[in-house]
Amino acid sequence: MSEFDLVILGGGSGGYACALRSAQLGLSVVLIEADKVGGTCLHRGCIPTKALLHSAEIADGAREGVRFGVKSSFDGIDMAGVNSYKDGVVSRLHKGLQGLVKSRSITYVEGHGKLTSKNTIEVNGQTYTGKNIVLATGSYAKTLPGIEIDGVQVITSDHGTKLDHVPKSVIVLGGGVIGCEFASVWKSFGSEVTIIEGLPHLIALEDESSSKQLERAFRKRGINFELGVFFKSLTKNKDGVTVTLEDGKTFSAELLMVSVGRGPVSANLGYEAAGITMDRGYVLVDDKCRTNIPGIWAVGDLIPTLQLAHVGFAEGILVAEEIAGLNPRAINYDGIPRVTYSDPEVASVGLTTAEAKKRGHDVVELSYDLAGNGKAQILNTAGSIKLIAEKNGPILGVHMVGARVGELLAEAELIFNWEARAVDVASLIHAHPTLSEAMGEAHMALAGKPLHAHG
Ligand SMILES: Cc1cc2nc3c(=O)[nH]c(=O)nc-3n(C[C@H](O)[C@H](O)[C@H](O)COP(=O)(O)OP(=O)(O)OC[C@H]3O[C@@H](n4cnc5c(N)ncnc54)[C@H](O)[C@@H]3O)c2cc1C
Repeated sequence: MSEFDLVILGGGSGGYACALRSAQLGLSVVLIEADKVGGTCLHRGCIPTKALLHSAEIADGAREGVRFGVKSSFDGIDMAGVNSYKDGVVSRLHKGLQGLVKSRSITYVEGHGKLTSKNTIEVNGQTYTGKNIVLATGSYAKTLPGIEIDGVQVITSDHGTKLDHVPKSVIVLGGGVIGCEFASVWKSFGSEVTIIEGLPHLIALEDESSSKQLERAFRKRGINFELGVFFKSLTKNKDGVTVTLEDGKTFSAELLMVSVGRGPVSANLGYEAAGITMDRGYVLVDDKCRTNIPGIWAVGDLIPTLQLAHVGFAEGILVAEEIAGLNPRAINYDGIPRVTYSDPEVASVGLTTAEAKKRGHDVVELSYDLAGNGKAQILNTAGSIKLIAEKNGPILGVHMVGARVGELLAEAELIFNWEARAVDVASLIHAHPTLSEAMGEAHMALAGKPLHAHG
């Protein structure tokens, strides 16, 4: 059997991006995937959840039409219709991706692979040898001791993206990004929703000000949540589930969704046997995604970096370019854009205030209230853009809450990654009336020349 330049195990965001870029650079590539190319993001992550969130937005639009002078009413959710729309989006993207893999002459192998030496992967009884091996086996939804996932009453996001009905009531265990997105969908679909989060805030990795604004907005929407208290036990009967918390409170609902984080898929795949350094199941790598074993690389959710599809893409591309000898720059993980696509959205790039102070920056902050922005008023959304900057220096972080603020991240990302100062951005002209104007206004205010800003 001939030797390939790369043998990639796992065809999710990290693995397929690495395959596509490597092939583009003229390298010979095998991509091994046990399920469907596209992985978690395409089939049970980013894409299906964002389609559900879009249906949720339409439901809210129907409910609130009258506020905008449009006669409309919310008559309920047809989950078959929602699923057919969502599955259509996934299926079109899946076909497109399959076509891309084919068109780049990548050897695509369907099957469950295992690392059998430092340069071989065995799949379907056949051995593929590579000058380089890229591990990209991704992650799975974790649960807690005492909670068995049955896929019916006790589910994870995997099942949540495929439900054929709208539950009357749901307990979402874990108020991180995935938990908050599902809570937002189900509330819009008409469920009674309670989030339980052990940490003091929802989306606790975000700047505290963003978490607090999301909590306020969720409270206003009637999404219940319990913060700073841990799960103790679960009981089930034919009508539903009852969760008891450590403070003795109990909550009952038709459904429990467990969203307490995702763990690396690395067990029994030959990684330890090959001598790869690991930590709690994660494969450890350097800033170019190299493991401690020469020629073995790892990318995506399998390594302990931010578990996001675009991080997987970036790491996959980095590895391909490094192998091809292009000597790419290492990824600056602070500069990765992050979005929670709930209603309202939460979006950020760069450091939180707490992190900036921890790193010793002399921090100045400014919060621009979206109330002063024409488009935000038109959309009837509340929120803000918070800037964190080094005193007389560059922007260190941008944190946004409000409808559609995820779309403002492109500019925030440029500002952060090009180390722009408030004065640099203040002189750029933003179109009126757009939400992006609020980005300009925030920087104008921080640069000492506020226009539509009070106080
Ligand atoms: C509900 C949900 C919503 C999300 N929303 C977003 C979002 O909006 N934006 C965002 O950026 N990220 C989002 N994510 C995260 C994103 O999906 C992941 O970060 C991304 O999929 C990671 O890519 P990966 O390639 O590392 O792993 P995966 O996408 O998990 O791919 C790994 C692949 O490896 C395959 N595999 C595993 N073991 C083997 C084996 N032994 N042999 C062969 N194949 C194997 C699996 O079948 C899988 O296809 C979301 C995740 C979830 C769960």
